[in-house]
Parts: sequence; C-alpha cells; structure tokens
Amino acid sequence: MENTLLVVNCGSSSLKIALFDKDRQKIASMLAGRLNTPNARFRIGKQRDATKLPPNTTHKEALAVLMDTAQKKGLMPKQPAAIGHRIVHGGETFREAVLINDEVLAAIQACNLLAPLHNPVNVEGIMATRELFPLVPQVAVFDTAFHQTLPEHAFHYALPQNYYRDWGVRRYGFHGTSHAYMLQQAALRLEQSTAVTSIISAHLGNGCSITAIRDGKSVDTSMGLTPLEGLVMGTRSGDVDPGLFDYLQSKGVSAEQLHNELNHSSGLLGLSGQTNDMRTLSDLADQGDPSAQLAIDVFCFRLAKYVAAMMVSLNRLDALVFTGGIGQNSARVRQQTVNQLGLLGFAIDQHNNDDNGLNRGGRIDCKESRFPILVIATDEERVIAGEAARLAELN
Ligand code: AMP
Repeated sequence: MENTLLVVNCGSSSLKIALFDKDRQKIASMLAGRLNTPNARFRIGKQRDATKLPPNTTHKEALAVLMDTAQKKGLMPKQPAAIGHRIVHGGETFREAVLINDEVLAAIQACNLLAPLHNPVNVEGIMATRELFPLVPQVAVFDTAFHQTLPEHAFHYALPQNYYRDWGVRRYGFHGTSHAYMLQQAALRLEQSTAVTSIISAHLGNGCSITAIRDGKSVDTSMGLTPLEGLVMGTRSGDVDPGLFDYLQSKGVSAEQLHNELNHSSGLLGLSGQTNDMRTLSDLADQGDPSAQLAIDVFCFRLAKYVAAMMVSLNRLDALVFTGGIGQNSARVRQQTVNQLGLLGFAIDQHNNDDNGLNRGGRIDCKESRFPILVIATDEERVIAGEAARLAELN
C-alpha cells in the first residue's frame, strides 16, 4: 500500500475518487452522489446497491466517509502519498499540471467565473483533502491545459476584442487530459515520438469533443469558452446559432431556462425525446424508432463535419482516434461517421470495427484508407495519478 495515489474528481453534486498503487494500477474507485440533497449516497466500484449517507452530506463530509471506508477495507494506508485533482478550468494561467500551494489555489479560484458550475466544487475538493491530509502533496490537473497551445486564429472568436481583453472570452477547450493521453497512446502504437505525431482525437462520452493535434500540440478543438460548444453530446446541444437566444426570448424562454435546456435537455436526449444513452438509442434504432435514428444521424453528421474541419489545422494525419464510452464501444457510430468521410479518404474495416479493433491493436481502418483509424480506451484518472506522482517526485 506504499505510495498509494488518490485521484479526486468533484462534480456539482458528486464526488468520484480513485486509488492507484505505485505502479499506476487502479486499486479501487468510489462514487458519492446526490450530495447536498436529502438522498445523498455512495457506492464502491460497480457495486449495485448504494449506501445511504446522512441527508445533505457535503463534498467534504462525503470525502471523509469515503476515506474512512477505504481505510477500513484495507484499500489505502492512513494517508495517500500524493493527491491529484481534476480541475475543469485553468483559464490562461495554467499550461500544465502544478503542485498546489496557496498561490495556485487563489489562481484556480480566479478561474471560477469561467466555469461557475465546475471550478468552485473542484476548489471545495482541494480544501477538503488539504484539511484531511495537510502534509500530503496535492496536484491540480486541468482539462484546459493541453489546449493552451492553440494558435490565436483558433482560439479567438470573431467578437469585439474587449470581450477577450476584459473578460477572457475565447476558446479554451476541454477534455485535455484525455486528448493528451490519446496522443501518447497513438504515438506508442505508431512507434513514433509524440513530438512528431499528428492526430485527430475524438473523445465521445456523455460529453464529446474533438481535437486536432499537430506535432504533439493541440491546434484546434471543438469545445470553447465552456464545454457546451461543438459536437452533439448526451444532453448538451453543441453548436447552435447564437440568433437562437433572441428568437427564443421573444417566445418567452428565459436566458436561465435556455441555459438549462442547452446543457441538460438537448443533444441525444433532446433529439430522441427518450434518452441520452447511445447504447439504448442504438437498440431503439434497430427496432425502427425514427427519433432514435434521427439522434444518431445528427450526432454522426456533426462529428464527420468536425473531423473534416479539424484537418484544416494539420499538414499530415497519422491517425483518427476514437475514445470515450461511445468512441470505444459504438461500432455503429464509428462506421456511420467514417462513411461520411469517404471523399477525404477515410475507410473502415467492418470486421475489425465490429470488435472495436480488439485483434489489431485498436486499428479499424481497411487497406484502402488513406489514414489509420484507431480505437483507444481513455483513462483520465490514471493520467491524473501519474501527474500527481511525477510532481510529488514519487517516481
Ligand atoms: P462515458 O461518458 O465515456 O462513460 O460514455 C457514456 C456513453 O457511452 C453513453 O452514451 C453510453 O451509452 C455509451 N456507451 C457505452 N457503452 C456502449 C456500447 N457498447 N455501445 C454504444 N454506446 C455505448
């Protein structure tokens, strides 16, 4: 249990933790949910039945319970060797992961306004672990950091420049930890260094984003100021016409209602009117459900359009990479998307695609394809654990 690493991921009403051993193998994961509500609860790993927590349990209280439970079950020592926190927004301040001190904490708090739903709870997670384990080194790993290499033409919106100067309105990009991991994994498979690797990385989970990586650097990405822009997602709309705001206001839809619906009732859920779950949508589409089919069609069309758009930023493409729950598991989505990219020379091998490239090291392209196409499992928690160990100098 020596050198156990703790990874903390605080959501608005949830707290996810993962424990890794010194060889970066996952020992356990735990999830507390419905925090600050009367129905707070937690579960260990894939356990079916959740354990009730006292009503209105806070993030800090939940963390104490999870740590206590992990210790009693012999999953971790009295304290971890280092702690890695997933932080959603690092603004323009953070280009890489950092050891947390008071100055860093203040700089993270200064980014709160850019991600009001996420950063304040991330900060709460840091405060809680600092209180519980005051002597343990803590590291912040930012979703935005990998995209700090975006060139100006890619990160500026065509807005009056004082929006950027005064309020930081620009494209930041998210899922950076996952896209950086895709770069590293693709380079390994292609047997080349990351510094000369250029890929398009499509992270398709409940949240979805796509990134163009040129010679190891993020040069364009679909998410923007917030994680709402770009691809169709589980419940998020992705791109819409900003003219929508005015029009819907004239129909009596308030800004707050629209914000909620764009984030929580749109995307696959909004289009299908049934679910945000791609697996269920695939089953429904197989049964001939037209709204499920429409949701999948819009999802794949937008994704294909974005793959094409990402090529503008590259001078070579070593691989198109699919990851995330949908990217790793949905042969249907990959097939339908790649079928729309025939003119650009992408072509899929149906047999290898059907088993997620299992027997070909993740390769699912056919020999006629101009570019390799890869399926790679993402593991953001493991990357965060690695960064925590590196910066705490445990390696
Ligand atoms: P994530 O947020 O990365 O866990 O991804 C969640 C999404 O992945 C959900 O839409 C799931 O339905 C989808 N997903 C997981 N497994 C499959 C599968 N076998 N086929 C299609 N979609 C899947």
